[in-house]
Amino acid sequence: MNEDIYVELRKNVKEFVQREVEPISHKMDEEDYFPEDVFRKMGEMGYLGITIPEEYGGAGLGYMGQAIIEEELGYSSASLALSYGAHSNLTLDNLYRNGSKEQKEEYVPKLSSGKWIGSLGLTEPSSGSDALNMKTRAEIHEDHYVLNGSKTYITNAPYSEFFLVYARTGDHYTAFSVLSTDEGFSRGKKFSKMGMRGSPTGEIYFDGIKLDKSRIVGKENKGKEIILGGLNSERVVLSFIFVGLARRALEESIRYSHERKQFGQSLHSFEMIQDKLATMYTEYKCSRLLAYDALKSIEEDSMDVKTAAASILYSAQVSERICREAIQIHGGNGYMKDSGVERLLRDAILGQIGAGTTEIRKKLIAHSLIRDFLKGKGID
Ligand SMILES: Cc1cc2nc3c(=O)[nH]c(=O)nc-3n(C[C@H](O)[C@H](O)[C@H](O)COP(=O)(O)OP(=O)(O)OC[C@H]3O[C@@H](n4cnc5c(N)ncnc54)[C@H](O)[C@@H]3O)c2cc1C
Repeated sequence: MNEDIYVELRKNVKEFVQREVEPISHKMDEEDYFPEDVFRKMGEMGYLGITIPEEYGGAGLGYMGQAIIEEELGYSSASLALSYGAHSNLTLDNLYRNGSKEQKEEYVPKLSSGKWIGSLGLTEPSSGSDALNMKTRAEIHEDHYVLNGSKTYITNAPYSEFFLVYARTGDHYTAFSVLSTDEGFSRGKKFSKMGMRGSPTGEIYFDGIKLDKSRIVGKENKGKEIILGGLNSERVVLSFIFVGLARRALEESIRYSHERKQFGQSLHSFEMIQDKLATMYTEYKCSRLLAYDALKSIEEDSMDVKTAAASILYSAQVSERICREAIQIHGGNGYMKDSGVERLLRDAILGQIGAGTTEIRKKLIAHSLIRDFLKGKGID
């Protein structure tokens, strides 16, 4: 791995974030505003297709590159980082890994450049954690499929041109590429959320969409493997949103505890505030190390379920705790919208719900831990 490339990338992303994202992060939250122009510009910068090889319009910098972008976006706007993750990892990277040569040629460059925005559709009104209990169905009619059903809570759906959609095909599951221009496709409402505002979340409907077999992503009836195969990288990459968010909350807390004086002293001269800062730092540092350790396992192709789930479990929990403490350190000011720290907490809460909940992550870790241990594998 060429470390210099990643040092350079982080520097560029930081500059981009300061120039393009920081000035609008408050507006995004206040007005639930999705900066479509900035998002598409991330395509021009090579960020959207960061994991995609250059021949398909990407930057070829792998999950390390994607994690760096998530971390730096998460520092300034977790909601933009969420939209980025849904597009770049859940949809584009997944499509690249599983799609046919024709799909790669047709869709991947458009998604890498930002000409198209993408979404992944798995969750349905009656199946969230129990995702495989989906009702969306694709029925075979001679040489094509007919898709009926709906998906909900889909990140970017109000804007996306491309959707990677999972459907039941008989007793199995198949992944399909669905376009917003397909006849029978429609968008439902855009949700108003407590946090991650500015990252558009919506419903999509499929009413008898005719899909040629060339729209199948991966193999017919092998969608379950794609769903499960994508989850590890998704969990690890999305962890970095919450690592970046936690760093922001910690920095704001140090700054404020220095500026704010009570009893004639800076807040950070009080031992109880020092205790908070020290704990926040230690938890932040552990979550970052765990996320980078998990990332290394993906890069080395030695990823297991428990490492990926532990990475996002911990970074999400830690960022929520750190953001809560940041508000406490800011006192009444922290409770006010203008301080900016209350947004961090509202955004952090999504970390324990989206891309699988804390409870499901714990379930996965425990099952994998017990199974591996009983097979004689040590705990690394
Ligand atoms: C902002 C946002 C963006 C999202 N983006 C996308 C997207 O782009 N694409 C997509 O497909 N989905 C997306 N989702 C959906 C997300 O993945 C689901 O919300 C999540 O998986 C949880 O499903 P659910 O909301 O139906 O909750 P439920 O599954 O109904 O769970 C409710 C509660 O019960 C708990 N629970 C459920 N089962 C168990 C169990 N077996 N043991 C213990 N506890 C359990 C859960 O942990 C949770 O606390 C998004 C959601 C949000 C909020």
